Amino acid sequence: MINNAAGDSADVVVIGGGVMGCSVAMHLAALAGSGTRIVVVERDPSYRDCATARSAGGVRQQFSTPECIAMSQATVAYVRGLAGQNPPPPRGEGSGVGGLPTQVVREDPHPRPLPARGKGDVAQPIGPFAFREQGYLLLASAAGAATLTENAELQRRHGADTVLIAPADLTARFPWIDAVGVAAGSFGASGEGWLDPALLLQHLRSEARALGVTFRAGAVTGIEREGRRIAAVRLADGTRIATAHLVDCAGAAAGAVARLAGVELPVEPRKRFIFVFDCRDGPPGLAAAPLVVDPSGVWFRPEGYQFICGVSPASDADEPDPEDLGDVDYDLFQDKIWPVLAARVPAFEAVKLTGAWAGHYDFNTLDQNAVIGPHDEVANLHFCAGFSGHGLQHAIAAGRAVAEQIVSGRLDTLDLARLGYDRIRRRQPLIERNVI
Ligand SMILES: Cc1cc2nc3c(=O)[nH]c(=O)nc-3n(C[C@H](O)[C@H](O)[C@H](O)COP(=O)(O)OP(=O)(O)OC[C@H]3O[C@@H](n4cnc5c(N)ncnc54)[C@H](O)[C@@H]3O)c2cc1C
Repeated sequence: MINNAAGDSADVVVIGGGVMGCSVAMHLAALAGSGTRIVVVERDPSYRDCATARSAGGVRQQFSTPECIAMSQATVAYVRGLAGQNPPPPRGEGSGVGGLPTQVVREDPHPRPLPARGKGDVAQPIGPFAFREQGYLLLASAAGAATLTENAELQRRHGADTVLIAPADLTARFPWIDAVGVAAGSFGASGEGWLDPALLLQHLRSEARALGVTFRAGAVTGIEREGRRIAAVRLADGTRIATAHLVDCAGAAAGAVARLAGVELPVEPRKRFIFVFDCRDGPPGLAAAPLVVDPSGVWFRPEGYQFICGVSPASDADEPDPEDLGDVDYDLFQDKIWPVLAARVPAFEAVKLTGAWAGHYDFNTLDQNAVIGPHDEVANLHFCAGFSGHGLQHAIAAGRAVAEQIVSGRLDTLDLARLGYDRIRRRQPLIERNVI
């Protein structure tokens, strides 16, 4: 157990207490056992502006890289485990252990049970999670149909329950949709949907604390190196914490934190907006809709009779924007999103905008994919960042991978080596086609 690890030394310091920092800390504490001093330093314990709190909570298996598919599957298994449900039997052809991809899975894909807590530990059981398994429906125009089909085949080979839907069948299955301009659809029939990001964060934090992790309020403003090793972090209040390992889980600030250590990580904040609208007089079945992604990139999903929606900006309008999350671009809804919504779902023609918020993606400018694992030269500096809008659903597997690398020096469960720092050094992108 940690006594006063927040004092001046630790085995592992984790910068950032969002969903990644909490997952890394929880898995580390579970793998390394009691006596390992783990300190999570979080500059804003209210979590008001962090990406986790501003996420849409989406979980999908419709990715184009086996790693992203497997990481989502790990979250589905974890969340179902918390809810006391067994994962459904594997359906993919050629799937490996438990229906997960043979190339990526190393052994048991499901999280190891956490060790029993000691007397007096204080974890609050949180859950079962409301994992709304309503699926994702990705729509493609003629130009994107071949890629959608290829991706669906890959997903099925890796155990995902993706089904292709022809335009004629789309309206039979989802009568509220207008399929004009759609050449193909792919739908995740199980193991996709959305969950409450705040509950996931609370759960991971609570588990980590119960396993002895110390959470400390403070901003890391300096990182001391001794040659090729990190020696300590410095907080804004002057505190110095010496550490054997440092993990950068600073979300959109992960690139800035890496610079404190004198290394490069191409991660920067990119602002994204989520709009909320009301459609309580919609047709039957609309409240049970999946998350729909239009060929234009506009997406929406229900939240009861309210809906949330958004769109990624064009790349030439997508500049780093670290400040002012209070400033929402309402023109984006009026000019770009609403016309698409109204054309795709006629019931959305007369919707009422009821709210909006902004958040920062932790955007990896090389390939919009995560960087998971140690720096190639500063070996006790680890990254778990750059998820570029799909990190919530990958936090369980990513946190476990970082913990495994710190504790055993290798990736024991999932082979996420292609997401390591090496590709950053070589400037060799690992392209994930399905970034939303
Ligand atoms: C609008 C929006 C919608 C999204 N929708 C989805 C979705 O549907 N599905 C999905 O999977 N993902 C989604 N994401 C992405 C997902 O939310 C993130 O990838 C994930 O939450 C990242 O977690 P994190 O812990 O790395 O970052 P964060 O949650 O941002 O946490 C990082 C923490 O580090 C702290 N920190 C930063 N610098 C320092 C420092 N110097 N010292 C101390 N602390 C520091 C910050 O205060 C922050 O709390 C979305 C993101 C946004 C913004």
